[in-house]
Amino acid sequence: MNYSRCDIVVRYLRAGTIHGFRRADDVESRESRMNVVQEQIVPAKTGHVLEVAKGQHLRLTDLEGKQVVDMAVFNRQNLRDRISTSYSRTRQPPQPGEGFRGFERLVEGHLLLSTALTPLMTIVKETAEPKGIHDTYHRMCNRSFYESFGHPPRDGCFETISALMEPYGMLPEELPDPLNVFMNLEHDSANHRWVVREPVTRSGDYIEFRAEIGCLVALSNCPDDVISACNGYHCTPVKLEVLAP
Ligand SMILES: [Zn+2]
Repeated sequence: MNYSRCDIVVRYLRAGTIHGFRRADDVESRESRMNVVQEQIVPAKTGHVLEVAKGQHLRLTDLEGKQVVDMAVFNRQNLRDRISTSYSRTRQPPQPGEGFRGFERLVEGHLLLSTALTPLMTIVKETAEPKGIHDTYHRMCNRSFYESFGHPPRDGCFETISALMEPYGMLPEELPDPLNVFMNLEHDSANHRWVVREPVTRSGDYIEFRAEIGCLVALSNCPDDVISACNGYHCTPVKLEVLAP
């Protein structure tokens, strides 16, 4: 039997792969079969550190809506190699013939790149609309931030993630600028200022990352309920899940 070139391509596609290309529905069906291997509720104003193995997914679910999570990602084999939000915005691998790529927002398909340009994780799914509402410009809230606004001493995301990383031998000043998941930071071009809006997430919205290498992830459920609209002035728990094929 003779097959045209088109027939052969169709046969390969039906078989599932062609030169490493995987059909979208194959990927979806495989990922829908993923099992939850870890599940954790992170109460309001607390944090959690966990390892995510290569190929596993990390899903962060905003249980009640409008809750920001500061997320610091490290190469598990070399903790000095850690997330760079500026590289993640400006060093996504280009398409053939494409010029400089600088993104204001990270969305599905984008990599989280490290300070040494190591691909750490890929954003594979997010449910909130509009998509890509995550801050890649700010660092973390901290004690001096709250005190500068006249509030009594209280820990911020910086102190939470510092404490989580202390057992790994990391000093607070070594922490990277995190990806501030669900943080709605908007640039006011007319006035050259940044404005913090309420998150767009609703109850049950989630974002999911695939680990491209073994990662250590330190999360802070942001405790700001007094200074900005960061968490809608009401801090709430989030859920993290690790999923494995
Ligand atoms: Zn915070």
